[in-house]
Amino acid sequence: MEPAWNLPDILRLLATRPGEARQALYDRADAVRREYMGDEVFLRGIIEFSNICRNDCLYCGIRASNDRVARYRLGEAEILELARRMPEHGQTTVVLQSGEAPSREGDAALARLIARIKAETPLAVTVSVGNRPREVYAAWRDSGMDRYLLRFETSDPALFARLHPDCGLAERLHCLEDLRSLGVQLGSGFMIGLPGERRETLAENILLCRGLELDMIGIGPFLAHPDTPLGGARNAYALDPDMHFLALAVTRLVNPDAHIPATTAYDALFPGSGRNLALTRGANVFMPSATPGQRRRDYLLYPDKPCVDETGDMCARCVMGRLAALNRRVGIGPGHGRRSPNVTSNPKEFQS
Ligand code: SAM
Repeated sequence: MEPAWNLPDILRLLATRPGEARQALYDRADAVRREYMGDEVFLRGIIEFSNICRNDCLYCGIRASNDRVARYRLGEAEILELARRMPEHGQTTVVLQSGEAPSREGDAALARLIARIKAETPLAVTVSVGNRPREVYAAWRDSGMDRYLLRFETSDPALFARLHPDCGLAERLHCLEDLRSLGVQLGSGFMIGLPGERRETLAENILLCRGLELDMIGIGPFLAHPDTPLGGARNAYALDPDMHFLALAVTRLVNPDAHIPATTAYDALFPGSGRNLALTRGANVFMPSATPGQRRRDYLLYPDKPCVDETGDMCARCVMGRLAALNRRVGIGPGHGRRSPNVTSNPKEFQS
């Protein structure tokens, strides 16, 4: 039986002191990752297909009020072409992410796009476009959507309300419940070190991931974007940035069989090493960017986002070097969640 985790246990782990004790915790998280998820790293190519957003989240670089952003939306043909190239690079999932801009036409266009990707490629499809009513999620699922990614951002309702004025935490959690009830594989997570966050909040965040029985957990450092109201704010762990790895390692211990990506924000905080270290401290998924090079600077959620000057398949090739250096293998098959019943892709499609 897996251990029943509680808040004091998690707080104790988060208080692990720098040095040997922290390294021992990282090693334990790495061993748990190996035991439950193996040495394979699943590659999910991410296409940030639109930065149009009607929300005004105080932390986010593409918030509606930031008029320094050039807005774009990629067309269906361009997205399909990007997705078609993924399998040759070992990528078995496409992640379609955008700002939050619901419209009947846009939601219907996304349904058509999902259906075409499923019909024309062997890829699993993850969508990450924010809150929607259950019927919209249901239509996307019926078109073939395998997974959905919607971070709860923070488990503290007051902090959520302050930083995310367009909806409350309860509404976000309701969306996650809808998705779960539809049998869609569920991804959520949080930012680490939001201004106003306390160690207890972080512990509650990790516990909430467990409570939601997530298939995928996306977490990453909060980084202050200069063109947002939080531009001058400091990450809550600015004096001890390794807390971001501690959070990742503890998230793995508490959620041993979840897919956990080494998120891009780790490379922004720890240039050149962040994502590689994350892969040795609990993470088992990598999301190379497939967003067209000329659009990447318009999808800056936070500053110092890596790879913004890269074009073509550079990220797809770069990840192979990272994995070789870490002695890890590319995941074969879609890397579905282990909990959800709605597994629609056939792993054999990826075996050569
Ligand atoms: N609009 C969709 C949503 O809200 O789920 C998906 C896109 S949203 C831009 C993707 C994620 O970026 C958010 O869930 C948030 O955690 C992260 N993010 C936004 N601003 C950030 C910042 N300043 N630092 C770190 N992560 C940030």
